[in-house]
Amino acid sequence: MTDLKNTRITLARRPQGAPVAEDFHIEQAPVPEPSKGELLLKTRFLSLDPYMRGRMSTAKSYAKPVEIGDVMEGGTVAEVVTSHNPDFRAGDIVLSHSGWQAYAVSDGKGLRKLDPDAAPVSTALGVLGMPGFTAYAGLLTIGQPKPGETVVVAAASGAVGSVVGQIARIKGARAVGIAGGPEKCAFIRDELGFDVALDHRAPDFAEQLKAACPDGIDVYFENVGGHVFEAVFPLLNTYARVPVCGLIAHYNQDGGASSGPDRLPGFMREVLTRSLQIRGFIQLEFSDQKDAFLKEAAGWIADGRLRYREDVVDGLEAAPQAFIGLLEGRNFGKLVVKVA
Ligand code: NDP
Repeated sequence: MTDLKNTRITLARRPQGAPVAEDFHIEQAPVPEPSKGELLLKTRFLSLDPYMRGRMSTAKSYAKPVEIGDVMEGGTVAEVVTSHNPDFRAGDIVLSHSGWQAYAVSDGKGLRKLDPDAAPVSTALGVLGMPGFTAYAGLLTIGQPKPGETVVVAAASGAVGSVVGQIARIKGARAVGIAGGPEKCAFIRDELGFDVALDHRAPDFAEQLKAACPDGIDVYFENVGGHVFEAVFPLLNTYARVPVCGLIAHYNQDGGASSGPDRLPGFMREVLTRSLQIRGFIQLEFSDQKDAFLKEAAGWIADGRLRYREDVVDGLEAAPQAFIGLLEGRNFGKLVVKVA
């Protein structure tokens, strides 16, 4: 074990705007030794997720930032290499949170054993993991789509949005997906069964959205903000529900206020007069629904109603560029790094 090296990617400095390669540092360290009660984990897959941009920044958030020099945070699927913990054996595959590194020591707390025969283990980071759960809990608890209603979601080919649209369909609603480019649009319409797919980069996107929602919008699952929200907002029906899940179009602004006219009074007047329910959430608050989600989602995958696409990048060293691409829409499906 001692001859092996642990490749780690640390935060070299805090990004100014969009992250660049120099914000990350790739280094080799000795593989850590597990003590009594601990286990050594070898990372097989690392999840890359938009929230990691927030961890690179000191802007006020719901979670602490990664410190300069520390390993970047992230969900992982790992294999137990050595175990001094009676609950785990060498060879077990677990869902862990080891971050951007090839090896990590764990005390076993918070690990979940995975059954490789039940589903490809990488799905524990996507459709059957945190992003899938975010879609499930946010849409069903806050969005509450009813049969015949119109549900709109952006970043619709991605880890969260793809699941939102498909669950909306399962619940009998009409799913309008918004994605970047013709390939992603074809995928959500033809492979995932969205009723309508719209490209947010089209110059007449706002008009296309209006035409696609002749009865207005009942649920808007907010993943992006920016110009997509601008187009959606006038179309929200009275009593529309807006689960605010993410605002990826603004993440590289680090929470800084943009200048411009004060549109808040007009916005709040619309919230009031149309009785809109705009509700932010972090998926952790719905943890008690995790077991129900895992059971239901596995059933939907088995009967073909829930499909998924993974964008698998090879090698830990490729993680920084892949993550930079995620914030620009270069991923196509749930972005994971195959580490080993
Ligand atoms: P995705 O796999 O969907 O990847 C991000 C996608 O966002 C890109 O592929 C791109 O899709 C789109 N995008 C990027 N920049 C912009 C932009 N400027 N304007 C419009 N679209 C953009 O990511 P996830 O599914 O993992 O995450 C989706 C959202 O959900 C994020 O905002 C994330 O932070 C949030 N989230 C929130 C959680 C919570 O607990 N609240 C938990 C998990 C995720 P395209 O090319 O189609 O535009």
